[in-house]
Amino acid sequence: MTTRRAIVVGGGIVGLCTAWFLQQDGFEVTVLERESVGAGSSWANAGWVMPARAVPLTEPGTVREGLHGLFRSSHPFSVSSWSDPSMWWFLTRFAANCTRRRWEAARHAMSGLNGRCLEAFDQLAAHGVTASVTHSPILVGYRDRGAARHFPVGPDLIELSVEAAQHKAPQLGSAIQSVVELIDTRHVDPAAFLADLSHAVQERGGYIKARNVVEIRPGVRVVTHLDTIKTDVAVIATGSRLSTLTRPLGVRTPVRAGRGYSFTVATDVPAPYPIYLPEQRLACTPVAGGLRIAGIMEFAPESAPAREGRLDAMARAAAGVLRGVDWSTRAHEWVGSRPITSDGIPVVGSTRIDGVYAAGGHGMWGVTQGPATGMLLARQIATGEPASELLALDPLR
Ligand SMILES: Cc1cc2nc3c(=O)[nH]c(=O)nc-3n(C[C@H](O)[C@H](O)[C@H](O)COP(=O)(O)OP(=O)(O)OC[C@H]3O[C@@H](n4cnc5c(N)ncnc54)[C@H](O)[C@@H]3O)c2cc1C
Repeated sequence: MTTRRAIVVGGGIVGLCTAWFLQQDGFEVTVLERESVGAGSSWANAGWVMPARAVPLTEPGTVREGLHGLFRSSHPFSVSSWSDPSMWWFLTRFAANCTRRRWEAARHAMSGLNGRCLEAFDQLAAHGVTASVTHSPILVGYRDRGAARHFPVGPDLIELSVEAAQHKAPQLGSAIQSVVELIDTRHVDPAAFLADLSHAVQERGGYIKARNVVEIRPGVRVVTHLDTIKTDVAVIATGSRLSTLTRPLGVRTPVRAGRGYSFTVATDVPAPYPIYLPEQRLACTPVAGGLRIAGIMEFAPESAPAREGRLDAMARAAAGVLRGVDWSTRAHEWVGSRPITSDGIPVVGSTRIDGVYAAGGHGMWGVTQGPATGMLLARQIATGEPASELLALDPLR
């Protein structure tokens, strides 16, 4: 039997995981990346793997948050491209999905994928893609004394006294008044994880080539800025740019950039655990050289320059509740675009062209869900049998 060839467009976590799992299923794989591996949002994000808590962004409170953000430029949720009519159209559709009923339906749609997340990480690890995966709980800290009691309950949640929490994570400052601990979570250094994945894909005979893909034509002809490549299967995994290639292929759910920012600071003593600060909307992750502070949800063009003052506002908010951090050491400043769908549900599966698939739109959870997406989609492509976990993520919905 001849080996089937696959092209994966996009070298982020979703594209590279899909490439790796396609190789597991016997495909000869080439990844086409317009810039470099990790050029999108998979690079300096918070790196949390928490499938039990990976819920759609279309939570009922999101619209209220967004309205606050319209009038305060330092707010963690904002829109900065009002002159673009397609942004209005996207936000109207997004807001219409922020009802309790639709959010529950979206949550249910994602549950199959979440249920397979850890298995996919374990499969990668069993084959040596282990770099930087740390199994550890996440501490959630509030200034408000009673707030931790309102954190959504679940079997993964443990109540913790503030003293016990500070003992575990010395960076939790005296302003913190209530804490819970989330267990069964992991975190990765996303850049190291991507480097490991791309190395593994190439070790197994795959190629990673610099190409900007401009179109995919029937007959699985991948048109790039340099050439046209005929292949058997193509998977579009271009993150927040997904719609550019998938809209002509019948994918009507739009994907827009929800930009986030991060930076790294040195700490007096190494940070043992990730810390979530819900009131400040900040995720803090131990990385080499200190603590990465990540946050902000800004609807703006992916290519727009980073907005001034964003990182200062994040640092001020974090400094109010963390201690033992040297804020003068701010480094590795980064902005990345989460791929956000208008209904909060990823798009994973066939497009209307035979042999061409879409994989993206994971929003805030692409690290958590990337490996499972690759595992399930590769299996679906290899066998021709739709994966039940992906049915509700149908790109042609
Ligand atoms: C601040 C922040 C914190 C986050 N924290 C977490 C977290 O803790 N846990 C979690 O699960 N998720 C987190 N996320 C979300 C996660 O980063 C994303 O969901 C995930 O990285 C999306 O991966 P992707 O592969 O779909 O897209 P990307 O990583 O954006 O990759 C897409 C790739 O496609 C390439 N590309 C685009 N167009 C073309 C083209 N035409 N031709 C060729 N190549 C192309 C791009 O250059 C890019 O490299 C966070 C995001 C941000 C911004």
